[in-house]
Amino acid sequence: TRTYIVTGSASGIGAATAAILKERGNTVIGVDLRNADVEADLSKPEGRSAAVAKAVELAGGNVDAVIACAGISAPAPITVAVNFFGVTDFLTELAPVLAKSSAPRAAVVSSMASLQPNSPELVDAMLAGNEEEALRIGQALADNGPQTGYLNYPSSKRALSRWVRRESISPAFAGAGIPLNAVAPGTVLSAMTRDLLSTPEGRAMVDANVPMPLNGHSEPEVIARLLIWLTSEENSHTTGQTIYTDGGADATLRGDDI
Ligand code: NAD
Repeated sequence: TRTYIVTGSASGIGAATAAILKERGNTVIGVDLRNADVEADLSKPEGRSAAVAKAVELAGGNVDAVIACAGISAPAPITVAVNFFGVTDFLTELAPVLAKSSAPRAAVVSSMASLQPNSPELVDAMLAGNEEEALRIGQALADNGPQTGYLNYPSSKRALSRWVRRESISPAFAGAGIPLNAVAPGTVLSAMTRDLLSTPEGRAMVDANVPMPLNGHSEPEVIARLLIWLTSEENSHTTGQTIYTDGGADATLRGDDI
């Protein structure tokens, strides 16, 4: 059996991923703010390093795959800290450990929001690895009001998908035999969307922004199953991709523009 580290394991997509992996006989080390094997705050550099150290210790030094699901959608710069740096720092620190596995794999959760309008300046600051500057830009957007504050979320996911694309062919990942991919959900029924989807107005707004002609909103397990395939031994050559598992939202919104 394989050993997986799953972030965001206490809720939604991460919880579904951890549950399916365990059902299939794998060892799972969950990371989350609370209710996890490793309790850590991935919004902070110290929290990320402490989480990696503790998770690797619990794994006895042998980690086969990492699935990073932890994320938030607050209209504030903490969204950038968790969704981008909390994923990229975590994976970068774990890559040398993963490389020792005979079939190492990594996957992250992006979003169809990566295709929505965003702040290119903020995306660039993230991809430059400049967390201080990214948080400054994210805070300025938030200070302008909730509309611009929301840009923290699509910007974090655009940067994450681009980071996956760039990093997948680096010595640390391709060079070490590690496929690295993202899954981009449409609207998933989880704690993140519960409040929004609880009113007709909220649902109408979500569905206008994220049209899902195929099968509508998804359960977290739908996303979990693809994350699990991407990090299984069966996946040897799919890398650098953001796979839209979104009921047709990408096909609707982006059309031929690929
Ligand atoms: P969720 O709120 O159910 O789960 C997210 C988990 O991340 C929670 O357990 C939370 O405690 C954890 N987390 C948040 N901040 C953290 C921090 N600082 N340190 C450690 N853990 C932290 O939401 P979900 O829908 O399962 O979201 C999982 C991922 O899917 C996120 O990256 C989200 O952006 C993405 N996503 C969700 C949807 C959706 O519709 N729900 C759509 C597209 C993408």
